[in-house]
Amino acid sequence: MPIKLHNALSRKKEVFKPLVAGRVGLYTCGPTVYNFAHIGNLRTHLFEDILRRVLKYDGYRVRQVMNITDIDDKIIRDARAAGKSIFEFVKEYETAFFEDLTRLNIQRAWKYPKATEHIPEMIGIIKKLIKNGLAYEVEGSVYFSIRNFKKYGALSRLNARKLKTGDRVDRDEYAKDDVQDFALWKAKHDADEPSWSSPWDEGRPGWHIECSAMSMKYLGKTFDIHGGGVDLIFPHHENEIAQSEGATGKKFANFFLEGEHLLVDGRKMSKSLGNTHTLRDLVAQNHPPLAYRYLVLTAHYRSPLNFTWESLAAAEHSLERLYEFVRELRAAPPQQKKSRNDTSFTGALLRVKKQFAAAISDDLDMPRALAAIWSFVRAYRKNPERFDPHVALKLILDFDRVLGLGFKRIQSTVIPTGIQKLAEEREEYRRQKNWVKADELRDRLLAAGFTVEDAVDGPRVKPR
Ligand code: AMP
Ligand code: ZN
Repeated sequence: MPIKLHNALSRKKEVFKPLVAGRVGLYTCGPTVYNFAHIGNLRTHLFEDILRRVLKYDGYRVRQVMNITDIDDKIIRDARAAGKSIFEFVKEYETAFFEDLTRLNIQRAWKYPKATEHIPEMIGIIKKLIKNGLAYEVEGSVYFSIRNFKKYGALSRLNARKLKTGDRVDRDEYAKDDVQDFALWKAKHDADEPSWSSPWDEGRPGWHIECSAMSMKYLGKTFDIHGGGVDLIFPHHENEIAQSEGATGKKFANFFLEGEHLLVDGRKMSKSLGNTHTLRDLVAQNHPPLAYRYLVLTAHYRSPLNFTWESLAAAEHSLERLYEFVRELRAAPPQQKKSRNDTSFTGALLRVKKQFAAAISDDLDMPRALAAIWSFVRAYRKNPERFDPHVALKLILDFDRVLGLGFKRIQSTVIPTGIQKLAEEREEYRRQKNWVKADELRDRLLAAGFTVEDAVDGPRVKPR
């Protein structure tokens, strides 16, 4: 089924066509590793994960590149405050970032290039821009001349006449009111600032140039899809386009996909507002990371999503019910197997398959895809005798290639006899009021992947 994606360049849904049949080059802006990622950042990475999973589900081979920003204003500031070298400082957060990805079932990109390892490539682009009359040097720093790049502002729909020209901005992040010539290369100011030699003064690159250098190095001058959060449209993505197209004279990325924000009380979750939560905070409150993944799937990626603990708990509950369904299917006795020519069964199966494919191909409409699954679960529950549980299970596991909710790991509700025995031993200790031993056995059950609830009629063992 052709995939339609909303292209920020045209502000329309367009049928996705790759440059090379069957392959997709995808670049997504990565983290600045100066702190733990917050769940707003992770929402964007979850949307990008869904994007690549949908493309893969449709048969494409996806090459995704995500940069790791290991040098920028904030890193220099915070490493200095922590009394650490930049390298030492970013390492911890880089490791934590990959842990978060793993816990959220986010598939790994093809490459995670680091800014500090691509300085020569960045210098190469800056030299080309100077040659093309689009950049100029001032006291050892180099700036991009937005006046000389006619397309400047096309992505973010800036009014070109309002552009201030000749004024310069050194900060990496700035708002639309501050549209000015931005820094490509920053001359070194402080003695303890990390720096590299260059045809200009010794210094370091601006933030925007790193994405131009690393995307084009690994994906070519023109590639298929560029992704990130909406806050990056201006100035970051706008500047990436200006630098790349200004240097090569070719179109940079065919599609720009921008994910909406995670909000808290109606405001963007962000470090500067002090309203962030990390995945670690969620886990500390006993929420499994995949409950957050489910929560993110309940909103379309182009709709803002307001985070509340209640909505997270509701997502967790829904996910648990889906796991319950998977357990039921796994445990269903073989005699429930139905012949494939039972028309109501094939009808329901075909319907959910079609609905799921239609939803994900329509600009990654995951809420609709989930709704299709839920209506299938209801149809199954209403008339289980009509369904072949094994075929239903296969279908659900196939959907999970896109959802990534970990259905494969969910085992049937049949409790192994060894586990059942442990639970009974624990019950015996409890009767003897030997709480230490009882707790010890509970921990062993937990380690084996089971929880035990103390119901009135005795212990009830459940897979975690
Ligand atoms: P940063 O580490 O701040 O450069 O951001 C990494 C990614 O997270 C970028 O793609 C941002 O657009 C995205 N991002 C930042 N804040 C939010 C938020 N509240 N909701 C969703 N995405 C965000
Ligand atoms: Zn970027």
